[in-house]
Amino acid sequence: MKALPGAVSLSHNGVLFLDELPEFGRDTIESLRQPLEDRKVNITRVNASYSYPAGFMLAASMNPCPCGYYPDRTRCTCTPANIDRYRHRISRPILDRIDIFVNVEKTEFRDICEGGRGEDSRTIRARIEKVRNIQLKRYAHENIRFNSQLSGGMVDRYCVLDERCRKIMEKAYESLDLSARGYHRILKVARTIADMAGAKAIGEAHLREAIGYRGFM
Ligand SMILES: [Zn+2]
Repeated sequence: MKALPGAVSLSHNGVLFLDELPEFGRDTIESLRQPLEDRKVNITRVNASYSYPAGFMLAASMNPCPCGYYPDRTRCTCTPANIDRYRHRISRPILDRIDIFVNVEKTEFRDICEGGRGEDSRTIRARIEKVRNIQLKRYAHENIRFNSQLSGGMVDRYCVLDERCRKIMEKAYESLDLSARGYHRILKVARTIADMAGAKAIGEAHLREAIGYRGFM
């Protein structure tokens, strides 16, 4: 029987959102490794093998612990071992393939009531288009379009750091126990933050912000 495209291929050129990521089976989570890296998925069956495109943006959410209340110890009923087990369902290689981690604090009642509506989509879209165009122009003579697609060699060329920034990265490499992949991710995110600021070169503030997005809880 022909292997049909799955969720990662149906998300090609779009967003794959996995709510409550640790609730997916370990095999399912690990199967994201290849498509996140190669932007395609290979399926081998007895009679044939198939290759489907899988260039998607992964967005995932998870709770801080199985009950969802950690670190509020007056409400969280999980044991430290439970919390550990829950977090370890997301392996290091998968974490390494994610660009940005953000902790979302509980929304206060007052904020919902008084409804700070934040920015509207049109404003955000305009900002994204501006940054997108900067990148399209920068990579006009490369076979990529965006910072996220920079290969290791290209990172050296397009994410140049001055001496001060290099020292910051050296410290982060040690203290966050980064892999080469994690190191490159920070530089690519920093390049995007610099683009958003309209800066030619990556500066210290851009780099520190990018490092801040590397922390997994
Ligand atoms: Zn809990």
